[in-house]
Amino acid sequence: MDKNDIYIIYGNKDLKNMTLQILEKTNIESLIGDRNKKIGIKPNLINSMKASFGSTTHPEIVDGIVQYLFEKGFKNIEIMEGSWVGGNTKEAFKVCGYEDIAQKYGVELIDTKKEKYTSYNCGGIDINICDCAMNVDFMINVPVLKGHCQTEVTCALKNNKGIIPDKEKRRFHTMGLHKPIAHLNLKAKNDFILVDAVCGDVDFEEGGNPVEMSRIMAFLDPVLCDSYGCGLIGYDVEDVEYIKIARRLGIGSTDVENANIHELNSAEGIKNVIPSSRKAQRLSKNINQHDACSACFASLMYAMQRIDDKYGINHVKEEISIGQGFKGKTGKIGIGRCTKCFEKYVDGCPPKAKDILEFLEKEAVK
Ligand code: SF4
Repeated sequence: MDKNDIYIIYGNKDLKNMTLQILEKTNIESLIGDRNKKIGIKPNLINSMKASFGSTTHPEIVDGIVQYLFEKGFKNIEIMEGSWVGGNTKEAFKVCGYEDIAQKYGVELIDTKKEKYTSYNCGGIDINICDCAMNVDFMINVPVLKGHCQTEVTCALKNNKGIIPDKEKRRFHTMGLHKPIAHLNLKAKNDFILVDAVCGDVDFEEGGNPVEMSRIMAFLDPVLCDSYGCGLIGYDVEDVEYIKIARRLGIGSTDVENANIHELNSAEGIKNVIPSSRKAQRLSKNINQHDACSACFASLMYAMQRIDDKYGINHVKEEISIGQGFKGKTGKIGIGRCTKCFEKYVDGCPPKAKDILEFLEKEAVK
């Protein structure tokens, strides 16, 4: 796997098996190398909410990572996280299913809130980082791709806020978040990134409005990861300050256009398994869906959220059709390749939220 590669597997049911498949394809085994290396796994357990609410990393994904590593002979594994300020990491480990993983494999759970830390010069800003995270030989970052009310997007770069002590998290907020998040990643380890993009929240990191994107994605470059994630949830990289700063600092590339995308399967036919939230129902009042795949519908939901943020959802004046039920049918405004016989449609299977947003701003927002 190269820094320029993006691996994607679609699905929302057997997440552990999906994880095992994507890890085999990326050949992370050879990236790690020596079996004696200490491996850290950093999920997102910002709060004590089950992953289906859209805020935390699905335990099935971390279970799959640990099983894969064990099967390949890597036994020195630690799972580490510190919930947000005021949150209880121990409770999050329990509620989110991580205590079960620890017991099953005999791996350690580390609450970074209780860990010692050391100050590092991160490109001119001194930042305290927990020793447990700096002492691993290989770090697997397992963020949730979701919207964020202050930074627009949260994924790999921001997930590393969980490896700093609480007092440093508070200081980050006084510094406006963007700059310290980017600078932290000059030192934080991002050796491999496996993104839980199964059902992240549409606009809040604490969850409650999950939108089923139904995919797991692998990256080596955290900046490319977050840049690609931006497009999936309706943002342009240039909208997100901390990604631009990370690019300037040389942490990685935002060049999504020239990335090598490897889709291991198709999004077609994957249906939602979580009932839609009240917010999703409000955003979808102009949507005519007939057998829409969850990945496609999620892109449209993220685009509708961005329209709601910018103009108010009531400014969408046209009916928008989406789904396999429109294949070969005619109509006015369609989303996805299934609606290619419509007067106007967005191509892609599934299309990105950013492309849908640009299209709807032109064709449906009045
Ligand atoms: S374009 Fe059609 S087949 Fe493709 S993801 Fe959308 S609804 Fe599914």
